[in-house]
Amino acid sequence: MTEQSAADLKRRRRQLLRKLPPLDTVLRGSLIERYKRCGNPRCKCATGPGHGPKYYLSVSYRGSSPRMDYVAQANYEQVSESLANYTQIRQILEQISEINHELLRRREPL
Ligand SMILES: [Zn+2]
Repeated sequence: MTEQSAADLKRRRRQLLRKLPPLDTVLRGSLIERYKRCGNPRCKCATGPGHGPKYYLSVSYRGSSPRMDYVAQANYEQVSESLANYTQIRQILEQISEINHELLRRREPL
Protein backbone atom coordinates (compact mmCIF):
# COMPACT_ATOMS: atom_id res chain seq x y z
CA MET A 1 0.00 0.00 0.00
CA THR A 2 2.95 2.33 0.67
CA GLU A 3 3.82 2.79 -3.02
CA GLN A 4 0.33 4.15 -3.79
CA SER A 5 -0.27 7.89 -3.67
CA ALA A 6 -2.92 9.40 -1.39
CA ALA A 7 -5.00 10.10 -4.52
CA ASP A 8 -4.72 6.41 -5.51
CA LEU A 9 -5.84 5.36 -2.06
CA LYS A 10 -8.84 7.69 -2.17
CA ARG A 11 -9.75 6.43 -5.64
CA ARG A 12 -9.59 2.88 -4.35
CA ARG A 13 -11.77 3.92 -1.41
CA ARG A 14 -14.43 5.32 -3.78
CA GLN A 15 -14.35 2.07 -5.81
CA LEU A 16 -14.89 0.07 -2.64
CA LEU A 17 -17.89 2.24 -1.69
CA ARG A 18 -19.47 1.59 -5.08
CA LYS A 19 -19.12 -2.16 -4.55
CA LEU A 20 -20.95 -2.00 -1.23
CA PRO A 21 -24.19 -4.04 -1.35
CA PRO A 22 -27.32 -2.24 -0.09
CA LEU A 23 -27.10 -2.16 3.69
CA ASP A 24 -30.69 -3.35 4.13
CA THR A 25 -29.84 -6.69 2.50
CA VAL A 26 -27.58 -8.08 5.21
CA LEU A 27 -27.93 -11.13 7.37
CA ARG A 28 -25.36 -12.38 9.84
CA GLY A 29 -24.96 -16.09 10.49
CA SER A 30 -24.49 -19.26 8.51
CA LEU A 31 -26.63 -21.81 6.72
CA ILE A 32 -26.63 -25.29 8.17
CA GLU A 33 -27.71 -28.31 6.16
CA ARG A 34 -29.63 -31.07 7.92
CA TYR A 35 -30.96 -34.46 6.88
CA LYS A 36 -33.62 -36.02 9.08
CA ARG A 37 -34.99 -39.53 9.42
CA CYS A 38 -38.78 -39.63 9.48
CA GLY A 39 -38.92 -42.60 11.85
CA ASN A 40 -40.71 -44.96 9.47
CA PRO A 41 -38.57 -48.13 9.54
CA ARG A 42 -39.68 -49.03 5.97
CA CYS A 43 -38.73 -45.68 4.50
CA LYS A 44 -35.53 -45.54 2.46
CA CYS A 45 -34.23 -42.91 4.87
CA ALA A 46 -33.96 -45.58 7.60
CA THR A 47 -30.76 -46.82 5.98
CA GLY A 48 -29.76 -43.63 4.19
CA PRO A 49 -28.76 -40.11 5.16
CA GLY A 50 -32.35 -39.00 5.88
CA HIS A 51 -34.71 -36.60 4.15
CA GLY A 52 -33.39 -33.29 3.04
CA PRO A 53 -31.44 -31.22 2.79
CA LYS A 54 -33.32 -28.87 5.06
CA TYR A 55 -31.66 -25.58 5.84
CA TYR A 56 -31.35 -23.67 9.08
CA LEU A 57 -29.97 -20.25 9.74
CA SER A 58 -27.57 -20.37 12.67
CA VAL A 59 -26.82 -17.07 14.35
CA SER A 60 -24.38 -16.93 17.23
CA TYR A 61 -24.42 -14.38 20.02
CA ARG A 62 -21.65 -13.50 22.41
CA GLY A 63 -22.11 -15.33 25.68
CA SER A 64 -25.03 -17.51 24.62
CA SER A 65 -25.72 -20.49 22.44
CA PRO A 66 -26.40 -20.05 18.71
CA ARG A 67 -29.97 -19.58 17.60
CA MET A 68 -31.25 -21.83 14.80
CA ASP A 69 -34.18 -20.99 12.57
CA TYR A 70 -35.64 -23.09 9.79
CA VAL A 71 -35.23 -21.58 6.32
CA ALA A 72 -37.98 -22.50 3.86
CA GLN A 73 -36.81 -23.53 0.40
CA ALA A 74 -38.52 -20.41 -1.04
CA ASN A 75 -36.28 -18.20 1.12
CA TYR A 76 -33.07 -20.13 0.66
CA GLU A 77 -31.64 -18.04 -2.17
CA GLN A 78 -32.40 -14.70 -0.52
CA VAL A 79 -30.95 -15.85 2.80
CA SER A 80 -27.88 -17.16 1.04
CA GLU A 81 -27.36 -13.85 -0.81
CA SER A 82 -27.93 -11.80 2.34
CA LEU A 83 -25.31 -13.82 4.21
CA ALA A 84 -22.85 -13.24 1.36
CA ASN A 85 -23.67 -9.50 1.45
CA TYR A 86 -22.86 -9.39 5.16
CA THR A 87 -19.45 -10.95 4.56
CA GLN A 88 -18.77 -8.64 1.61
CA ILE A 89 -19.77 -5.51 3.55
CA ARG A 90 -17.48 -6.51 6.42
CA GLN A 91 -14.58 -7.05 4.01
CA ILE A 92 -15.19 -3.71 2.30
CA LEU A 93 -15.37 -1.88 5.64
CA GLU A 94 -12.12 -3.51 6.69
CA GLN A 95 -10.40 -2.42 3.46
CA ILE A 96 -11.72 1.16 3.75
CA SER A 97 -10.56 1.23 7.35
CA GLU A 98 -7.09 0.07 6.26
CA ILE A 99 -6.94 2.83 3.64
CA ASN A 100 -7.94 5.42 6.24
CA HIS A 101 -5.37 4.01 8.62
CA GLU A 102 -2.69 4.42 5.94
CA LEU A 103 -3.81 8.01 5.18
CA LEU A 104 -3.67 8.78 8.89
CA ARG A 105 -0.14 7.39 9.13
CA ARG A 106 0.91 9.71 6.29
CA ARG A 107 -0.72 12.70 8.01
CA GLU A 108 -3.13 12.98 5.08
CA PRO A 109 -6.69 14.22 5.55
CA LEU A 110 -9.20 11.37 5.47
ZN1 LIG B 1 -38.12 -41.30 5.72
